[in-house]
Amino acid sequence: MPGFYTSQLAEALAPDVLNRFLRYVRIDTQSRRDRVSSPSTPGQLDLARVLVAELEEAGLHDVRLDDNGYVIGTLPANENGSGNGNGNVIGLIAHMDTSPDAPGQGVEPIVHQGYTGGVIELPREGTVLDPAAMPELVDKLGHDIVTGSGDTLLGADDKAGVAEIMAAVAHLAAHPELPRPTLRVSFTPDEEIGEGATLFDIPRFGARCAYTLDGSDIGELQDETFSAVEVVLTVRGVEVHPGWATGKLVNALRLAAQIVAALPSATLTPETSAGREGFIHPTEITGTAGKAEVRFIVRDFDDDLLERHVALLEDTARRVVAAESRARLDVNVREQYRNMRRFVSAVPNVTDAAEAAIRAEGIEPIRKPIRGGTDGSRLSEMGLPTPNLFTGGHEYHSVREWASLQDMAAAAAVVVRLAEVWSRNGDG
Ligand SMILES: [Zn+2]
Repeated sequence: MPGFYTSQLAEALAPDVLNRFLRYVRIDTQSRRDRVSSPSTPGQLDLARVLVAELEEAGLHDVRLDDNGYVIGTLPANENGSGNGNGNVIGLIAHMDTSPDAPGQGVEPIVHQGYTGGVIELPREGTVLDPAAMPELVDKLGHDIVTGSGDTLLGADDKAGVAEIMAAVAHLAAHPELPRPTLRVSFTPDEEIGEGATLFDIPRFGARCAYTLDGSDIGELQDETFSAVEVVLTVRGVEVHPGWATGKLVNALRLAAQIVAALPSATLTPETSAGREGFIHPTEITGTAGKAEVRFIVRDFDDDLLERHVALLEDTARRVVAAESRARLDVNVREQYRNMRRFVSAVPNVTDAAEAAIRAEGIEPIRKPIRGGTDGSRLSEMGLPTPNLFTGGHEYHSVREWASLQDMAAAAAVVVRLAEVWSRNGDG
């Protein structure tokens, strides 16, 4: 296929996908933890308003930005796809925010046309994309690679998904001869801080199932995610001026560091685990000598093992703090999301349809569990079965983030084909 596209459809969609993507990534939509309102940051509303205008321009109905920063819109079924009754409403979801874990302001995307192999050097901060460290890049010879400029994330997570859904529904709206069920589109805020599903109105959305476009390499179809909790330890010591501290000071920061040091490091960490193994991962230590807070995320695919990891963390913290009788420990465990598999496998035609759409695009589906969560993890638990599809983006949450235009176009084409599959699927 000339231009390394998976199909003529993908090639036709590519310019629109790229134009939209380059526009969206320039808008700073980085979310912020411990939000006090939804969305957590005003930049997400800037993108939301752009998307509302573009959905209306594409001809979608009932386009709205709700009070919590969720964009929704409807592309009604056409004659070719409406023979299935009103129950056939399919959702398409992507998140508007970018990760707080890497700089997200002032993204200046670069399109490196026709990748010829070797290291891609970005203009700022000596950032490089080295295929020796990124095996996926080796597979993209000939592709147009989109990156940031080296000092920010790119935002393919998840603006690649947003651009792909936009391009696909605009294409379907402009081509009424292509069969489609009713498609409900939603762009969500604050996924990266684990809140994307919190205020998602499933009854109003009214879909039987949905798909997030929030995966990575071409072909990925994910219906299994981590189960996830966040644990926050608060250590209280005794703060005394260091000049008069002899025998009195109890340093909370020192105890916090001891807790982290006492945890397993050769196993049960993100950097030493793979596949279906879980982990305990400290993400932040803050505080003073008087009071320190340590945040952890704990992950596993198995809910029982997840509980064991949490118990290990809690026991370790209590043992360390118990050695200093004047110190106090508070443990706060918060469930974030659960493995979606059990909820999605109850309705097998949802992943079957996605597999069929991926194959129709000439791609072999890749079925492997995602070592993370998506909006779909919680939506599935809340009653909207929502597996995850690839977007063509890589190295998320880093200044090395990149995406293949050809693979982004393939994802948009898969959405168009998914509409066709569901138009045949009926009410079953
Ligand atoms: Zn994402």
